[in-house]
Amino acid sequence: MNDRSLRVGLLSRLGLVLVLLLTLDAVACYLTALYFANLVYDRWLIDSTRSLAQAVRSEHGQTQFDVPVVALQIFQFDEVDQTYFRVSSEKRGYLAGETSLRDVTSEPLNGIGLASGALAGQRVRIVSTRLAPALTGDIVTVTVAETLIKRVTLARDILLAMIAPQVALLTIALWLAWLGVSRGLKPLTDLAAQIEARDQNNLSPVPQTGLPREARVLAARINDLLGRLGNAMRAQKRFVADAAHQLRTPIAAVMLHAERAQRAPDGATEREALRALHRSVERAGRMSQQLLALARTDPEAVIAVELKPVDLVALARRIGEEWIPRALQRDIDFGLIVPESSVSVLGDERMLSELLSNLIDNALRYGDPAGRVSVVVEDRGQPKLSVQDDGPGIPEEERARIFERFYRVPGSAGEGCGLGLAIVEEIARLHNATVEVTGGSDARGSRFTVTFRPAELRRPR
Ligand code: ADP
Repeated sequence: MNDRSLRVGLLSRLGLVLVLLLTLDAVACYLTALYFANLVYDRWLIDSTRSLAQAVRSEHGQTQFDVPVVALQIFQFDEVDQTYFRVSSEKRGYLAGETSLRDVTSEPLNGIGLASGALAGQRVRIVSTRLAPALTGDIVTVTVAETLIKRVTLARDILLAMIAPQVALLTIALWLAWLGVSRGLKPLTDLAAQIEARDQNNLSPVPQTGLPREARVLAARINDLLGRLGNAMRAQKRFVADAAHQLRTPIAAVMLHAERAQRAPDGATEREALRALHRSVERAGRMSQQLLALARTDPEAVIAVELKPVDLVALARRIGEEWIPRALQRDIDFGLIVPESSVSVLGDERMLSELLSNLIDNALRYGDPAGRVSVVVEDRGQPKLSVQDDGPGIPEEERARIFERFYRVPGSAGEGCGLGLAIVEEIARLHNATVEVTGGSDARGSRFTVTFRPAELRRPR
């Protein structure tokens, strides 16, 4: 499970972006500060070079560089940086200063050359100027170099002065964002608290008023779910209540007939009471078997069922055979109309057997005695399984209701409990198939047809 807090997630993302921006800002700030520090200190360095160049003279037609030692010491005095110089001429070569200091080309004469370089392992800024002392025909280059400590320190000080308030601003912004996000999430935390405070029977909708749009969508989905849950629970309760009520009748009859048998004054009455007892037990047994069948078709239970190819022709033959004795009892002409080849559907053999048994059972019970019942398998694009009888049929207005649980057409013969067709419909639904009821052939009886989806679309739920 992902246990990240939405608030922490939002804020860490926001914080990351702000820190990134602050870093970019700091880099830009430092480079700008360094640029201006260079501009100022370069100007000083150029001034120093020019004043040193003034010490170059011409004496008797020869170039001279003549500066008192004290003046040079003053020139080189700097508490922070190191300053180097070098004077050389084209005619006389090296004249004074640091031998290893290289010149920077400066064009034209008296112009200024400026560059960054290194000296004695330190980064330095170098300025050179060239001059031609009068009457010497010589060209002298004066070069001055200075380490960068002052510049870097100045740039760093400017950076700190600018960044410190920005860091403070960033902290305040994150704190305000934390408050804002907490406030923004309050409707969600309130909603969660409300749901948590409910007891399990309270499935009434959660209020949507006062919620922001995004939370309203969530509340609406929760309400949808609560609504469906409520319907399912009501259906479940109704079913349990109906089942209890329906089971009471055969059980009361069992007790009644058992008592009658016990108190029977003679053998004939006792046998009669036992026969009635047997019928009641049969009825209670059938009903509990049907209730169990209905429970098995519950989608929760069906997840574990593996759907495999089932041949409808073989199924019709096998189940049909099981019902022959019952058909014979009622003198019913029981027939099978199936194609030569197999008709395969993807399904659960046990459930499909139950479905077909229920339809045949109904046809044999409600069809006319000495009538005709047929089980038909067809495959014209869509596999179909039908059971047809030539009994009284089902009035048009009742056809929609007969699939409801516990519903029986008023005045129905026999001792059914109205679950058989509900089971048929559930099993069909689990196979993505449909059940429909029509009149039988010759405008007599009824025909129940289960239509499966064509092979390539047969994807069970
Ligand atoms: P049960 O047969 O136990 O009453 P079902 O759910 O199987 O329950 O059937 C519901 C009702 O539909 C039956 O009570 C009956 O009135 C009607 N019915 C079902 N099958 C037929 C049929 N083949 N012919 C006439 N009526 C039928």
